[in-house]
Amino acid sequence: MPKKKNKLPTEIVLTYKVKHNHDLKNLPYEFIKISQRAVDIIWENINWKEKTVKHRYKVGKKYKYYTTTRLIPEIPKDNDFKRELRNCLLEDWKFASHYIDGAIKTAYSAIGSWKSNYLNGKRRRNKPIFKRPFVRVKTTLMKYDKETGKIRITIKPRKEYLILNIKDEWFFERVKDFDVGEVILKENEALITFKKPFDLSDKKVVIGVDSNLKSLDLYHPIEGWVRIDLSELHRLKRVYDVIIDKLKSIYKKAPKRIGKLLKKYWNRRKNRVEDFINKLTSQLSKLFPDAIFIFEDLDKFNMYDKNSDFNRDLDRTNWRKIAKKLEYKSVVLYVNPHYTSKTCPVCGSKMKSQEGQVVKCDKCGIFNRQFVGCYNIFKRGVRLAKKLLGGVGVPVAGAEVDDLLSNEPRGELRPMKPNPNVSYTVDLNGRFLKIYNCP
Ligand SMILES: [Zn+2]
Repeated sequence: MPKKKNKLPTEIVLTYKVKHNHDLKNLPYEFIKISQRAVDIIWENINWKEKTVKHRYKVGKKYKYYTTTRLIPEIPKDNDFKRELRNCLLEDWKFASHYIDGAIKTAYSAIGSWKSNYLNGKRRRNKPIFKRPFVRVKTTLMKYDKETGKIRITIKPRKEYLILNIKDEWFFERVKDFDVGEVILKENEALITFKKPFDLSDKKVVIGVDSNLKSLDLYHPIEGWVRIDLSELHRLKRVYDVIIDKLKSIYKKAPKRIGKLLKKYWNRRKNRVEDFINKLTSQLSKLFPDAIFIFEDLDKFNMYDKNSDFNRDLDRTNWRKIAKKLEYKSVVLYVNPHYTSKTCPVCGSKMKSQEGQVVKCDKCGIFNRQFVGCYNIFKRGVRLAKKLLGGVGVPVAGAEVDDLLSNEPRGELRPMKPNPNVSYTVDLNGRFLKIYNCP
C-alpha cells in the first residue's frame, strides 16, 4: 500500500461539505456508469503475469517447502491505451467531455486500490464495482471567484451550470486564500476541496509532543521541556460525565425527556472540549510559529496496544483531536510510538517503570516519565525532519542529538531535569498563563 504519511506536505488541503438543490438529473448515475465502463475496459486489458511464490512450513525442527503460482496484474497505463479509452467513452456522452477525464481517474484509482489490496491478500481477483452515484468534478470544469465566493461548475458547456455559493458558509473565512481543487458532487451535496501551497521556509525547529491525561508535554530544543496544563480540560470532561452518568441511571423513568437531556449534555460536553482544543492548538501554533510538531503515529497504536509500553496515563481522544486540529494550523508529522516512554534519554537502553511518574535506567538514573516521552518523540522527529527535508533548515539547538547512535553518550545535553523548564496553563479564554519557569 502506498504510504502517504510522513511525506512532507506540499500543499494544505481542506475539504468542506455544502448543500445544493440543483437538479443534476442523472449526471451522478451516468458518471458512475461511465466510470464503471472505464473499469471494465481497463480490467479486460490487464495482463496477468504468472509468478511463482515459495512457501514454507515447519515439520518438527525442519522446514518443508512448496510453491504456488500467483497471478500478478499489470494494469495498462500507456498513453495510446488511455487515448483510445477516452475516445471510446466519449462516444455517447451527453455532458461536458471533461467529466470523462474524471471518470478515467476514478476508474484508475479504484483499480489501483483493488490491486494493492489484492497483492496484500485482502481482496480476490474480482473487478471493482461502483455502487453509490457521485460525480468527480475536475478543476477544468470549474470557475471560482474568490471575491463573490461563487464556484461555477459546468454541467453542459454553454448550457447548464451549477453555482455553489460559499460566501455565507461558516468555513469561508478559513479558506479565503485557498484555491478550489476537485469537487465531489452528489445528489444534494457537494464536497469541495480547497488547496494552498505549503510554505516550509519558516520552519526551523521540531517539537516533540506527548499527550498525557493532565498535561501536554513538549520538548523544544531551546526552551527545553515545556509543559501545558490540561487539568482544566480533564475537569471539564469530568463535570459533564458526572451529569451524564446520573441521567443514564434514571433514564428508564422518563426515556423521552431524559434522552433529550442526555443529548443536550453530550453536545455541550463535545462543544466545550472542542472549544478548548481549538484554543489550545491556536495558541500552540502562535507560540511556536517556526515549529514542526511531532506526534506519535496514532495508527500504529493498535499494533502496540497490548504492549505494556502503552499502559500509561493518557487520553487518546484528546491526543487525536489535538494532533488533527493542529494539522490545520501548523505542520504535524508522526513518528513510531514504540517505546518512546521507556527508552533512556541518555544511553538509549530500555528502562523500567517505577511507581508514579518515574522511570529508571540502571546506568543513568531516574527520569520523569512525561519528560522521557516528549524527549524521545522529539529525537525521532529530528531524525524524520532531516530525512524529509534533506538536512536543510531543521533544526537548530539540539540538532546533534540525532547524529549520535542511541547508545552513544550525549553528555552535552542537559535536558534531564526533574521538572519542566517552562510550564503553561490554558484557561478557557484561550490565554496561556505562564506559571512556572525554572532556569
Ligand atoms: Zn541510560
